Amino acid sequence: MSNALIAIDKSKSFRIYLAVTTEMVEKARRIHNTTPLATAGLGRVLTAAGLMGIMMKGQRDKLTVQFKGEGPARQILATADAAGHVKGYIANPDVDLPLKSNGKLDVGGSLGEGTLTVIKDLGLKDPYVGSIALVSGEIAEDLTAYYYISEQQNSSVALGVKVDRDYSVMHAGGMIIQMLPDAEEESISALEEMLKDLPPMTTLIEDVAGRSAGLSESGMLEKLLAEIFDRLPENYRAEKLEEREIKWECDCSHERLEKALITIGKDDMREIIEEDGQAELVCQFCTKKYFFTKEQLEELYKQM
Ligand SMILES: [Zn+2]
Repeated sequence: MSNALIAIDKSKSFRIYLAVTTEMVEKARRIHNTTPLATAGLGRVLTAAGLMGIMMKGQRDKLTVQFKGEGPARQILATADAAGHVKGYIANPDVDLPLKSNGKLDVGGSLGEGTLTVIKDLGLKDPYVGSIALVSGEIAEDLTAYYYISEQQNSSVALGVKVDRDYSVMHAGGMIIQMLPDAEEESISALEEMLKDLPPMTTLIEDVAGRSAGLSESGMLEKLLAEIFDRLPENYRAEKLEEREIKWECDCSHERLEKALITIGKDDMREIIEEDGQAELVCQFCTKKYFFTKEQLEELYKQM
């Protein structure tokens, strides 16, 4: 079971992180009951977070990718860890806008003007926080700009989510190409040239999936890798380094929600105890409900 891989080109000029995330994005769609527009936005952010997660070195490293805008989607947030576990949500799962003139879902319009913030917890005293103004709100373009501006890293991000007529996720996937410090100058221009004419991610996945009947997931990924990088001159073709997995997983628990409940402050807690005599909290990532009895709330109140 692997739906992601890490590869490097023959000249060791750039590293590639490639994933097919159809299953994960479909899971998120079912949990959050998203419109096609919300599915596209959330799916792109989840896929990007998953790829950025497996780029981290330490097994306990975590990151949060937050798109915040003035548009009707308001916020799309995802977190991921180095093991490829991903969870996320969109503030307005019902967001709906007319298609753009090119027939595509208007993810940029749903976010509007806003900011992209990336928080990386690498086990140091303070997390690393980088923030930029949204370029287009189309997610991939914003992340490419983020890497350049905030991390001084030359990278290229491609993401895609195709929604079926019945609103289920037909294809989803993404790729991050990261230039290495000793990159050959010619490799950059060769890549730029190739990416300019590269079909959308979902078209590539659809093509390869159509020709991969009977192939395992990792076999299909290798085919996808070749489909993309065989467009480059021989010396920049990609070679697989390792297989990885990116999947949906929420790590919420009663204990975790208790910690969230404690942060509301003593006065508010007293009010809940007196007026409601109980509390129900919903995990914003997976929508699971957690119930707290009056006794449990009194116990928490004492700890505050
Ligand atoms: Zn949860």
